[in-house]
Amino acid sequence: MPREYESTSLRDLLCGSISEAHVGQRLNVCGWVAKRREHGEHLAFLDIRDRSGVVQAVVEGSVDVKSEYVVRVTGTVTPRPEGTVNVKLSTGAVELSDCEVEVLSLAEVPPFQLDDRVEIDEQVRLRYRYLDIRRDEMQSNLRLRARVNTALRRAMDAQGFCEVETPLLWAPTPEGAREFVVPSRLNPGEFYVLPQSPQIAKQLLMVGGFDRYYQIARCLRDEDLRADRQFEFTQLDIEASFVSQDDVMGFVSEAVLDAAEVATGVRPGEIERMTWAHALDHYGTDKPDLRFAMTLQDLSSAFAATDVKAFSAPTVKALRVEGGASFSRSRLDELTEQAKGLGAKGLAWFRVTADGLDSPLARYLSGEETAAIAGVDGAANGDLILVVADEYELACHVLGAIRVTLGSPPVGEGPYRYVWVTEFPMFEGVDEDGHLQAAHHPFTMPHPEDLGLIETEPLKVRSQAYDLVLNGWELGSGSVRIHRADIQSRIFRALGISDDVAEVRFGFLLGAFRYGAPPHAGFAFGIDRLVAIFAGEDNIREVIAFPKTQSGADLMTGAPKSITERQLRDLRVRIDPKGK
Ligand code: ASP
Repeated sequence: MPREYESTSLRDLLCGSISEAHVGQRLNVCGWVAKRREHGEHLAFLDIRDRSGVVQAVVEGSVDVKSEYVVRVTGTVTPRPEGTVNVKLSTGAVELSDCEVEVLSLAEVPPFQLDDRVEIDEQVRLRYRYLDIRRDEMQSNLRLRARVNTALRRAMDAQGFCEVETPLLWAPTPEGAREFVVPSRLNPGEFYVLPQSPQIAKQLLMVGGFDRYYQIARCLRDEDLRADRQFEFTQLDIEASFVSQDDVMGFVSEAVLDAAEVATGVRPGEIERMTWAHALDHYGTDKPDLRFAMTLQDLSSAFAATDVKAFSAPTVKALRVEGGASFSRSRLDELTEQAKGLGAKGLAWFRVTADGLDSPLARYLSGEETAAIAGVDGAANGDLILVVADEYELACHVLGAIRVTLGSPPVGEGPYRYVWVTEFPMFEGVDEDGHLQAAHHPFTMPHPEDLGLIETEPLKVRSQAYDLVLNGWELGSGSVRIHRADIQSRIFRALGISDDVAEVRFGFLLGAFRYGAPPHAGFAFGIDRLVAIFAGEDNIREVIAFPKTQSGADLMTGAPKSITERQLRDLRVRIDPKGK
């Protein structure tokens, strides 16, 4: 970094950029005392740390500083004496000598050691997050995140996208998650909703003629938290007019590949594509982890006329586990429990041995069935074949999950395998009222070849929705949108949303569409997830400055908290004491 950016009224250089080039200069640095070592009574070595790294300051005479004091040190850059050079440190060839130390701020003893090599309880880290983020690892994760954001912005700008900010106080959005609700003081009894995404706003921007919009947008969903989910998360949100699905996938690919290059130093090749049906059939999931093979194999035809009750089902799927014959009985029991937990009736296993299949079920199989199992692609002595017989999607999902359990490396471990998953179904299952559910959201355009099936065979309707997946994590989703009122009403009707309800919930959007809606499409992907993977972290909390715990608490601020009676009164909100 050029010197002029580093120097301020208090300092000349950042600690980490001092080098042999500065030998002989008398300089000021500012930072925290990372370490203090005494050498006899009258010589102290201080490691001074700032955001760029650490430099050693040698202080003669007594100096009253402790760990994490904030200091300003004036010293002369001097080569370290022979034998004391520290090659692990960028500044390890030099030190500041003849130092004067000015204490800018005192510090209490921190509740944990600010050292990446020390394992610290996460609760403590989150409670003192301002100290935790002084650590190198958090500094580097958050700075990586900033570089990724810059790369994304640059890529979108270069492709002619215009950044527009959309409101946080908004009306319900159609993603289908539970929403955070904000009471209106000026309109008692009425509420805003924090947006689950800028979905409707960005579609309105298309009606408004923006043509290409993007935003690094905060989205809020009141859902249970997990390793890859927080209440609030950040998306690169985009929408464009007069485009096809391929165009949008092109824009997003460009941005993601640029970010990948900035983060990892390597620009990945073109992102491959796979249909949803293929992903389900071969990987048992809509977010396939392509870092390893272990694809599912279909044995349904060999078992079509089976006498074995356990295999009498529409679909029989198999998964070959290389070398898995050595799994213990308890390991096999665990896998069986996992399969049952996912809804399967059971999990059959077969060890491939020189003497044939070894399994409690082996003797019940016909010759053809034995041959089918022993003949799954690649099967060799020492392998294990796992089999699930059930309805098609269930059999795929169960074996897909077991595939991930047995094969997936940690998500942030390379290589990075991106894949576009296309042709998602339009609807997935039905809700409690028997209404079809939108697989993406109700504004998604059906596949043009399937428009005729909406009323007759809705579950067969494919949509023009697409996901981007990286190492088995869904990075984001998007779709071509419906811009024609007739198709929109047919979809609303299929979803059980009456014209009246549609008018109340989305009337402003449908109204806007009456004034000339261009064909449009868009996408949004999670920046937290992308950065976590690049940072080699499997929990997005590690790339968020101030995250919440699994139970939704902010351990540092204490939020969520009660508010005063006065505030409640202003909002005309009353707490039901029995409601807890
Ligand atoms: N709004 C969608 C989401 O957040 C993404 C999109 O369709 O653009 O999942």
